[in-house]
Amino acid sequence: MLRALEIKAEGKGDGYALVLLDIDNFSMINDTFGAYYADRFLIDFAALLQHLPMTEGVARLSADQFALIVGSTGSLVEEILRSQLISRTLVIEGVETPLSFCMGIAHCHKELAPPEMLGHATLALKRAKKMGMGQAITFSDAMICSLRERVSMLSSLKQDLDHHRLYLVYQPQIHLKSGQLIGVEALVRWMDESGQMISPAVFIELAEQSGLIVKLGEWVLRRALFDCADLCRAQPGFRVAVNVSPLQFQQPDFVDRVKACLHEQGLEGQHLDLEITESVSMSYADEMIDKFKALREMGITISIDDFGTGFSSLSYLERLHVDCLKIDRSFIDKLTTSTSGYRIAQTILTLGQRLNMRVLAEGIETDAQLNELIKLNCDQGQGYLIARPMKIDALDEWIKIHTDQHSL
Ligand code: C2E
Ligand code: MG
Ligand code: MG
Repeated sequence: MLRALEIKAEGKGDGYALVLLDIDNFSMINDTFGAYYADRFLIDFAALLQHLPMTEGVARLSADQFALIVGSTGSLVEEILRSQLISRTLVIEGVETPLSFCMGIAHCHKELAPPEMLGHATLALKRAKKMGMGQAITFSDAMICSLRERVSMLSSLKQDLDHHRLYLVYQPQIHLKSGQLIGVEALVRWMDESGQMISPAVFIELAEQSGLIVKLGEWVLRRALFDCADLCRAQPGFRVAVNVSPLQFQQPDFVDRVKACLHEQGLEGQHLDLEITESVSMSYADEMIDKFKALREMGITISIDDFGTGFSSLSYLERLHVDCLKIDRSFIDKLTTSTSGYRIAQTILTLGQRLNMRVLAEGIETDAQLNELIKLNCDQGQGYLIARPMKIDALDEWIKIHTDQHSL
């Protein structure tokens, strides 16, 4: 393919594009229909690409990835390819399979060496796949800048993690009716060398993509248990909630690592709550069941974070013996202003009651929201109205004042 690009570059100059196509869910086609069917699918797909009017070269780069050289540029490339391919279905041995694939498109210039063109198209394809099935992205120079920024941010994050420059803040979780403190959620913070606070939404995603999250997550767990050990010892019911990313949960020794962290502080599992997102709990349900069971046997509770934003299978929720559903902040935000927000919160609360799970509302900001949640019989909550996330020293102070106001 690189040689073909080179020849094109010599002959044509600027008027062509390199397109990478990656078939969506190819492994599922392979697993469901078998290797023979999957091979036929690939052969037919390749033939389809070869016969597109604008195709000037086709190559198969890996199992389900193809490269096309097309004699056109501009936004038209995506449009033409879509119109010629997207509505097609492949009929193999009488089985009709719709075509779904992602595309990364790079426009070619005389000054670009073929490996660079391939790099651009690969980057665009990666972006497209991240957005989901059937997506297409055309490479732009801004992508390189943002890639460089991300690489440099990741390297600073690694250094700052090693040099203990990250820290945790804690947000109280309370019983809504009595105001009694249940525990805290640990949230990680990062101030980079220039003194700028980077949002966890940004650096957690970066850490997840690079695998650094396994180390970062373990640091958070260890630090949170260390910071809160005295609070746990003073109050048998006090629980520290720690967010756990999918990759951490998937580590084969995850349960042992958690056990070791608790052991280091001499704490029992009843003081720890692990928050996982809906996607983790559902995608590897069978594997998760054993891990959840082992954690529960240690007294650890499991909460589903941001509940309502993903896709949960109710039967799995029951099989996994989840302890708590955390209603996502976006629904609490709309609780008193839109009927859909109200209905979703109400539905999650009913679901929790039926499945015998606790329900905790996240992001309570107003008295109106608090009162509505109490009316709906929501047990627990957290949010700026109750307290903002704070450093451990401030938390100790907050707890003293709060305890004076509400008997524990
Ligand atoms: P999350 O676990 O759902 O955490 C709740 C987020 O809502 C936190 O944002 C918190 O500061 C914010 N929040 C709490 N109350 C309110 C409120 O009343 N109003 C508003 N507008 N926001 C409120 P934060 O700390 O920026 O964290 C964002 C996300 O980053 C977290 O969402 C979690 O998914 C992730 N994250 C944070 N720390 C960790 C960590 O240690 N490990 C992992 N894996 N993820 C983490
Ligand atoms: Mg959370
Ligand atoms: Mg949440």
